[in-house]
Amino acid sequence: MDESTGLILKGLRFSAEKHNDQRRKDSKSSPYINHPIQVAETLWGIGQVRDVTLLVAAILHDTLEDTATTPDEIRQNFGEEVLALVLEVTDDKSLPKQVRKQLQVEHAPHKSHSAKLLKLADKISNVSDILVSSPKDWSLERKREYLLWTEKVVAGLRGVNPGLERRYDELLSEGKRSLGL
Ligand code: NDP
Ligand code: ZN
Repeated sequence: MDESTGLILKGLRFSAEKHNDQRRKDSKSSPYINHPIQVAETLWGIGQVRDVTLLVAAILHDTLEDTATTPDEIRQNFGEEVLALVLEVTDDKSLPKQVRKQLQVEHAPHKSHSAKLLKLADKISNVSDILVSSPKDWSLERKREYLLWTEKVVAGLRGVNPGLERRYDELLSEGKRSLGL
């Protein structure tokens, strides 16, 4: 055990507190924190990522977008590098949803190596959720649209990690099969 373990634990505590009142969109309204934990563990286990800055950024990746967390808080607690990475994967919420989704597709190829890994793990987690614990009120068509949108984003993230890309591809195939695509 070393300093990295402490940083990971601090990230988990910070993110859990920030996402405390939030739930995922599945029928059980699972605790939101399950998702950032899954993203970080996917980076570790499937991506073989050992960069603590990236693992902590994964744990925090939805705090700016989905909670009242400020960039200053992340900078003060986790430093400039973690903040830069979280900002790189944060959508501009002042833009309409459809525009944000299109920008994710366009911006993906220009992201840093670490941000591409994080976005890949995020899409793996969300597509996996679509398959096993999908948002409770989503129609088949909406799930299909979501899956096909992730495919376009991931096209711009390739060439960084064979393990993560293989896992995404398996989920995509399974998803296409089960959604009749
Ligand atoms: P949302 O962006 O609203 O929801 C998907 C996001 O929710 C995921 O990326 C994930 O983000 C988070 N999430 C939380 N819980 C789950 C879960 N259990 N499974 C998967 N993801 C979860 O949805 P869309 O991508 O569909 O975008 C909304 C767009 O769809 C709008 O532009 C709207 O106009 C359109 N729309 C389409 C409809 C249709 O039937 N086709 C109907 C209504 C709207 P994170 O990683 O950040 O948590
Ligand atoms: Zn996410």
